[in-house]
Amino acid sequence: MIRKLLIANRGEIACRVIATCRRMGIASVAVYSDADKDALHVRQADEAVHIGPSDAASSYLNADAVIAAAKATGAEAIHPGYGFLSERIVLPQLCEQNGIIWVGPSPDAIERMGSKIESKHIAEKAGVAGVPGYHGADQDDAAMTAAATKIGYPVLIKSSAGGGGRGMRRVEKESDMKAALEIARREAQAGFGDSSLLIEKLIQRPRHLEVQVLGDKHGGLVHLHERECSVQRNYQKVVEEAPAPRLTEKARERLFAAALKLGNAMKYDSAGTVEFILEEGDEQPYFLEMNTRLQVEHPVTELITGLDLVELQIRVAAGEPLPISQKDITINGWAIEVRVNAEDPAAGYRPNVGFVHGVRLPDGDGIRIDTGIAAGSEVTPHYDSMLAKVIAYGSDRTVAAQRLATALGTYSVFGVGTNQGFVRDIIAHPKFVAGELTTRFIEEVFPDGWKPVADTQGHAAIAAAAVWAKHIEGRAVPPALGPFLSLGGFRVLSRAGKPAVTRLTVEHGGTKVLLELIGGKEGYDISLDGKVHKVSVRASGADASVSIDGVSRRYGIHVNNSEVGLSVDGAVTLYQVMPELDGIGASLGGAAAGGPRLAAPMPGLVVAVQVEVGQDVAKGDTIVTFEAMKLMMSLPAPVSGKVKEIFCKAGETVSAGAVLLDIEPAESA
Ligand code: ADP
Repeated sequence: MIRKLLIANRGEIACRVIATCRRMGIASVAVYSDADKDALHVRQADEAVHIGPSDAASSYLNADAVIAAAKATGAEAIHPGYGFLSERIVLPQLCEQNGIIWVGPSPDAIERMGSKIESKHIAEKAGVAGVPGYHGADQDDAAMTAAATKIGYPVLIKSSAGGGGRGMRRVEKESDMKAALEIARREAQAGFGDSSLLIEKLIQRPRHLEVQVLGDKHGGLVHLHERECSVQRNYQKVVEEAPAPRLTEKARERLFAAALKLGNAMKYDSAGTVEFILEEGDEQPYFLEMNTRLQVEHPVTELITGLDLVELQIRVAAGEPLPISQKDITINGWAIEVRVNAEDPAAGYRPNVGFVHGVRLPDGDGIRIDTGIAAGSEVTPHYDSMLAKVIAYGSDRTVAAQRLATALGTYSVFGVGTNQGFVRDIIAHPKFVAGELTTRFIEEVFPDGWKPVADTQGHAAIAAAAVWAKHIEGRAVPPALGPFLSLGGFRVLSRAGKPAVTRLTVEHGGTKVLLELIGGKEGYDISLDGKVHKVSVRASGADASVSIDGVSRRYGIHVNNSEVGLSVDGAVTLYQVMPELDGIGASLGGAAAGGPRLAAPMPGLVVAVQVEVGQDVAKGDTIVTFEAMKLMMSLPAPVSGKVKEIFCKAGETVSAGAVLLDIEPAESA
């Protein structure tokens, strides 16, 4: 048996493999790049070896560095995870030369299945139906165009060496072929180092179905049933589940038979996935390609079969025969997985980077989270944006979907925005609930793109203000900042037991609301647009229950000085909460209270000056944003008038009483 295993990967999959190692009593070795020196997989592994700079080509794709790390630590085996070196032959070849066990299929299987053209030839020979198309050796424009015409438009041009949804181009008509072939060839060469192309009929309403297979080195091969991964964006999976909903027994039997035929033809001896495409409503699956590694979505199969795929991979790699036969593999219940990515689905899925300030894990039954991040992790632009997978299991599909939607509503990542609101809306959509899945799901359900539900009643802003006030209430104020304590209006509770009014601005994404907060024993009265709400907060760690007018709701919270992260239905929104220091600036300045000068209320930092010389201001308008004691506050104009002179600028640190601005009072003032 293997005693020590190195994981040539990072993120959630490295953590996932470490978990199985721990369960099997195998010591784990992580490898890491500069950017990942504090990453979760490094913290979780028994040993960790630095293998190079942040860019993947110099670290996670550097097979020599990985081998050197295995030798240095005495690791007897290497698990590649997915991505990076998992589907390249260089690492298994080096493993063989160095007497290290490769937890994966033979380099030959990887190579043959890595070419979409070659794999289609193998499938054809094994009697497995592929998508009608052309995968001939003649790559001339004339031959390719003639083939496309014969197949019938629209067609899909694919790069033979492509993967991960890249290198595909849809062509509508014959006159577009020449240009499309040219671009596709160039892209294939640049992206995958191989310009070979193939053509497939474009399936109009496709479902993506795949079969998990597992073989050993003794000729054993089983399938572990199917998964459906039809909910995709840009040919990349977003939601995956097992088993597939609304699939006829005939189609299912065809999938299993085809996957086993191909696996047997290959003498496949590890975990792999045979992917198929099926026209909605049809019963004939077409072979697409085979992935010769563990897939991102393997947990859904684990949950319905009760098997640990990583353990089985390790056992067969070590030469053990499969411990299970086909008839022992039964499925139970339903599992659905979503990929939680650091991206902004409302802004063209722009990737997000930054530090994770906190994570609030969901509660509830049947929830598994495979994650690569924790509080303190940094999400960098060097690697893909997947942070975690949330997987729900239930006795049936409805239960699994409901559990998943609930879990996504409570799971909160603070500091880095995620796609959770988006994936939660997918899971809750009636079409998803009904199991009506094709790869066009997202474009059909969100034709104008996805947008989060707006906080029309201002409840989230009120909750953010209340959470912030509660946070401040409990905070010790350093005695050195004496003057601050005298700012009665700032304090939420007055010492004399009289209500103290604090004006707060709550800002989010360019919109500002002004609230008035009165602190009392029972909570707060918060008025917004003239309407007074009774609000109370109970907070514990990252969890808060905020009651607004008698209805209480749970939120994930993270307060960082003036910034309140509020997670509502899984989507974290950031609010800047700023108290307004009415009149105080003036009273501390050289002039008498109510005078025309604005002065710094305490030592601090000028964050922004909102006005220019000559500008008219009304008493109470925010004219300077100021930060002290790690709190942001807005300083209002002490009088109405015209800005005469500005003595400070953004970024400047000033002492208490420093005059920031002079106002020429208006005639009437
Ligand atoms: P990759 O190796 O890049 O993942 P695949 O061949 O596995 O590429 O295809 C990925 C996805 O692209 C499929 O799940 C499907 O959504 C879409 N796709 C592939 N081939 C076709 C086709 N012939 N017609 C329609 N959609 C297709």
